[in-house]
Amino acid sequence: MQFYANNERDLPQIAQHIIALSQKQKVFTFKGNLGAGKTTLIKEICKQLGVTDTVSSPTFGLVNVYHTKSDTDIYHFDCYRLNDISEVYDIGFEEYMDSGNICLIEWPEIVEPLLPRHYVSINIEHKKEGERVFDIEAC
Ligand code: ATP
Ligand code: MG
Repeated sequence: MQFYANNERDLPQIAQHIIALSQKQKVFTFKGNLGAGKTTLIKEICKQLGVTDTVSSPTFGLVNVYHTKSDTDIYHFDCYRLNDISEVYDIGFEEYMDSGNICLIEWPEIVEPLLPRHYVSINIEHKKEGERVFDIEAC
C-alpha cells in the first residue's frame, strides 16, 4: 500500500492505516534516509494510540518504552547507532519482539535477522520536491 504526504497534516491517515494493521502484526520497521520522517510518523502513531509520554528517538540506550491510556506498552527502537547485532542480544531484543506489544523500529537493517517471521515494513522516501512517499508492506 502506498501513501503520499506533502506535509505533516497528511500523516494521521497513514498512522491510522498502520494502527489498523497492528491488530494482527505487532512489529513495524521504518526505513528511509536521515530526516525522511520516521520519527515524525511514529509520533503520530503513538499519539493516536493514546501514548501519554513524550515520543522521541531513544537518546540513551536503544529503546524507549511508552505507556498508553489503555495501559499497554509500546516499544520504540532506533538502531541507527548500533554497530553490531551482538549489542542487541544484551538488551533482550527478541523478548521485546515476542512480547505481543507494538514494536516500532527505526533503522532496522542491522537487526533484520532477529525480526519475527511476520512484520510490517514501512519505507519512506523524501522526494526533492518535498513530497514523501510511504510504502507499507507486510513481510
Ligand atoms: P533520522 O534518520 O534522523 O531518525 P527521521 O527519518 O526520523 O530522521 P524525522 O526526525 O521524523 O526524520 O523528520 C525530520 C524532519 O522532517 C523534521 O524536522 C520533521 O518536522 C520533518 N518532517 C517529517 N515528516 C514530515 C512530513 N510528513 N511532512 C513535513 N515535514 C516532515
Ligand atoms: Mg528518527
